[in-house]
Amino acid sequence: MSTAQSYDFQAETQKLLNIIIHSIYTNKEIFLRELVSNASDALDKVRFAQNKGTEVADPDQPLEIRISTDKDAGRLTIADTGTGMSEEELVSNLGTIAKSGTEEFLKKVTEEQESPENIIGRFGVGFYSVFMVASQVRVTTKSADPETPAMLWTSDGMGSYTVAPAEEDMSRGTRIEVTLNEEEKEYADPDRIKHIIKKHSNFISFPIFVDDEKVNTIPALWKESKFNITQDQYAEFYKFLTYDSQPPLETIHTSVDAPVQFNSILFIPQKSTLFFENVPTDYGLDLYVNRVLIQHKNQDLIPQYLSFVSGVVDTEDLPLNLSRQAIQESALISKIRTTITKQILQKLKDLAAKDPDRYTTFWEEHGKVFKLGYSDTGNRETFAQLLRFNASWHQDDTGLASLDEYIDRMKEGQKEIYFISGPNRENIASNPHLELFRSKGLDVLYLFEPVDEFVLQSVGTYREYALKAAEHVDPGDLEQFGSGEDEPKETLSSEEEKSFDQLLKAMQDILGDRVTEVRSSKRLSTSPACLVNPESGISSQMQKIMHIMNKDSSIPKQILEINPNHPLSRNLLKVYSQDPNDAFVRQSTEHLFETALLQAGYLADPHTLVNRSFEILSQASSWYTQAKDAGEETR
Ligand code: ADP
Ligand code: MG
Repeated sequence: MSTAQSYDFQAETQKLLNIIIHSIYTNKEIFLRELVSNASDALDKVRFAQNKGTEVADPDQPLEIRISTDKDAGRLTIADTGTGMSEEELVSNLGTIAKSGTEEFLKKVTEEQESPENIIGRFGVGFYSVFMVASQVRVTTKSADPETPAMLWTSDGMGSYTVAPAEEDMSRGTRIEVTLNEEEKEYADPDRIKHIIKKHSNFISFPIFVDDEKVNTIPALWKESKFNITQDQYAEFYKFLTYDSQPPLETIHTSVDAPVQFNSILFIPQKSTLFFENVPTDYGLDLYVNRVLIQHKNQDLIPQYLSFVSGVVDTEDLPLNLSRQAIQESALISKIRTTITKQILQKLKDLAAKDPDRYTTFWEEHGKVFKLGYSDTGNRETFAQLLRFNASWHQDDTGLASLDEYIDRMKEGQKEIYFISGPNRENIASNPHLELFRSKGLDVLYLFEPVDEFVLQSVGTYREYALKAAEHVDPGDLEQFGSGEDEPKETLSSEEEKSFDQLLKAMQDILGDRVTEVRSSKRLSTSPACLVNPESGISSQMQKIMHIMNKDSSIPKQILEINPNHPLSRNLLKVYSQDPNDAFVRQSTEHLFETALLQAGYLADPHTLVNRSFEILSQASSWYTQAKDAGEETR
């Protein structure tokens, strides 16, 4: 027709189309899942409008999806009686990418170099996936708005499309005619199509006909009694909801009557779907009112820290025509959320008790997100019970312990749960603050992720035991636990202690206001020195995070503790006693301080430390060779 207008696809759309068309993805059948899901969405909108009493075109048409095949012509047609599209909607819906998921997909493929073949099935890439199999697509559509005329959209997916008034008289809905590529003719085979529908679209709540035969037969599973549902049916439903190729780790099917009425089926997946992001945003439960889908991925039904859960919630207590805002503010929804949260936590508790290995699988996949639950004050005890951390008694960093397990292992009289933070086990093992606990045989939890400290600090106490950062412990409070195996071989005499005090004063003078104090340490056994936070509530790890967040590069003033029983201290004491102004005292003091800063992660510029190390090494090596030349024992 002469009035046909040609448009170029938006640049992003063209990029996506190129990826899709040239993708060597073998599982091309998912295009049908996408088209059927769009048809179902369009039907949902009509049903929703009708329930609200809005006038729609052709109100008596049944809500359904009809697929027909023409093997000889290599053609497949998918028709629905849904909302249809106006001319503007055609241009904005099928000419541009509106969908955040598609943008995400593009980003992963173009910026993060993910192979499209790996993720195309997981991301619904929507309508455009039809160009994996089509050489030509015609969309004829009539909007549900009675006044809006029918339109025809055509494209070969190569860069442009046309829009024109439809020549025929059409009733409400959309018909998508797909002319298949030579190599994709299998999709004109009705048996193949029926098979794909059963596989991917079995739970669509509208009838789907293939060449006039109804193929989807399964009713809303969540409304059935759970005793009539097999594991396979749950697994199939889960797959339909999530596109996950593996069965779920756990399924929770419940029917609640009070304080609110709802049915739900919830799934915990085996694998996390977060690729790189730490904070999930694309999550939620599908909200139905008496089998009618009201909202896909509603986030008010579930807290973010349980966002790995997917599923459906169906309530009869909500009016159909509620706005998004009203749903958000509904007390009913928040009651459902409270109940659902408790159910999921209970399920996890059961799992941890009955099958610890499976719980470990859960923790490794979803623990990172779950930890965000530190803000859920209402369920704090249960939340804390479900936490897992690596700990000092484990062989390597794969070990996981609960707070209960820690408590079971506590020493007689121990009233606190100790933890220490660091990027990994090796780093923590060399943290001087661990020495006190090691020497007393006290267990310590190892925290590897920055969020862990926020988590434990919000928990505060668990079963009457305060959670405490190792570096905040006063060694005097641990005297009852004896001094353990690492008892120092030599200690200072009272005479030596006096001059040691003077040495510490001299060190303090050298460091000036870079430290609050230099004092003798009771916590060290193998390290010569360490930094201690003056009675502040936050640990050095937390302080560092806050420094980074505030773009603050200053070094907080801390106490430098010196181990009086370390050989270095004894030698230093000798040097100092002979000549308080010996340059070696200054050199060692600076070096101990900077090394302690480095260990605590505060040393931004190591060049003076490095230069001093070289200086000390060359001095040491000349003494060593001199001594050797003199025939002395050097070791
Ligand atoms: P999504 O379904 O995630 O929004 P798609 O790429 O699958 O992304 O579809 C883009 C848009 O095109 C849909 O949001 C919808 O507005 C419109 N659309 C697609 N198919 C149909 C259809 N059969 N009936 C009505 N609108 C449709
Ligand atoms: Mg879609």
